[in-house]
Amino acid sequence: MSRYEMGPAEDALSTVLRVARPLPAERIATAVADGRVLAEDLHSPENVPPFRASTVDGFAVIAADEAPERVVIEHITAGVVGTPRIVPGTAARIMTGAPLPEGADAVVMIEDTHQSDGRVEIARPARPGDNIRPIGVDVAQGDLLLSTGAVLGAAEIGLLMTLGFTEISCYRRPTVAVLSTGDEIVEPGEPVPPGAIRDSNRYALMAAVHEAGGIPESLGQVRDDRILQRDAVRDGVQRADVLVTSGGVSVGDRDFIKPVLEELGRIHFGRIAFRPGMPLTFAEINDHLVFGLPGNPVSSLVTFEVFVRPALRIMQGDPHPLRPRVEVELAHDFRRGGNRVEYHRVVVRWADGRLVAQSTGLQISSRLLSMAGHNGLAVIEMGEGVLPAGSTVKVILTGPIFSD
Ligand code: AMP
Ligand code: MG
Repeated sequence: MSRYEMGPAEDALSTVLRVARPLPAERIATAVADGRVLAEDLHSPENVPPFRASTVDGFAVIAADEAPERVVIEHITAGVVGTPRIVPGTAARIMTGAPLPEGADAVVMIEDTHQSDGRVEIARPARPGDNIRPIGVDVAQGDLLLSTGAVLGAAEIGLLMTLGFTEISCYRRPTVAVLSTGDEIVEPGEPVPPGAIRDSNRYALMAAVHEAGGIPESLGQVRDDRILQRDAVRDGVQRADVLVTSGGVSVGDRDFIKPVLEELGRIHFGRIAFRPGMPLTFAEINDHLVFGLPGNPVSSLVTFEVFVRPALRIMQGDPHPLRPRVEVELAHDFRRGGNRVEYHRVVVRWADGRLVAQSTGLQISSRLLSMAGHNGLAVIEMGEGVLPAGSTVKVILTGPIFSD
């Protein structure tokens, strides 16, 4: 029997969300900030555009000018500042993005003009402001560009570069050491003796760390030996912000992770009413987070997704550390999981104007095929019997939704 009381999964998640803290910020090049979280409010030092710019290829004119034909006094291309002032009876040829010359107050599209011999005839009357981007229309000087907590993607990086912010302050990414335990596990490229299995968890977990924005570091494998595991855990905690172990958290004779965590630090919880992954263990050693994940491949990845990923997102400053949740209709009957909430792997599709969830099949915690290709975890609340087809449940979206 486990010495740990089986607490509700929501309480376990609340504990993780409470304990995880953003890491300090660091200055980094905006050029490599994709996916990072901004740690400062940035206001625009400038107007964009900084000058009145033409939005079309055409002629810069005075809108009120009644001359039927105007003398073209200049060609202004993008990047060039025109010098002569536009006065009644004159116009300047101007390209998209180029600054409007003094005196002009409108641009007439090339399609609405006839040109001959250094002169232009305006076929359609212009109104002041036509085809001009006024100063500061995109961004006004002093505008809030992005605030602390903004997750930087393509648009945000473009915006920062537009204003010349080539270096910015972002939260540090957590380093995450990943350790496999077990006498039976071997490196995937090595021969597999009778009774052994390949260590898939370490590689799956390192990929999951990377996807969550963390920096994974392999701590290799350690045998089911209490002293060796204690040394490996100590080493992991010294080397990284977070330690994730796989295996050795159950109640078997050779499951040493819980006693080792107790010896070195403080365990927050050691058993949760959750399937797959009841023996999930969460501890702190010298303010470093340690997650003892169960060895079964599905249990380790699902508990990572539900409990570790949010911690890594918080550590890198993400104000929305949880995945999106949606209400989804069940495509068929789902069996309830008794005294544990079950996070059932599903494929969510957009079909006939609704989100519909289909099970990925047999849900035993060794079967990684129940995760391959899934895009959601359907939360099947505790209870007996079945949830009938057509019922609505909450689904945590872990990937993109496709339409039929
Ligand atoms: P444990 O949590 O150590 O009792 O392991 C539970 C199950 O997961 C056992 O069948 C182990 O062989 C398997 N397992 C443990 N570690 C790994 C690993 N790194 N990769 C794949 N399977 C594992
Ligand atoms: Mg084991």
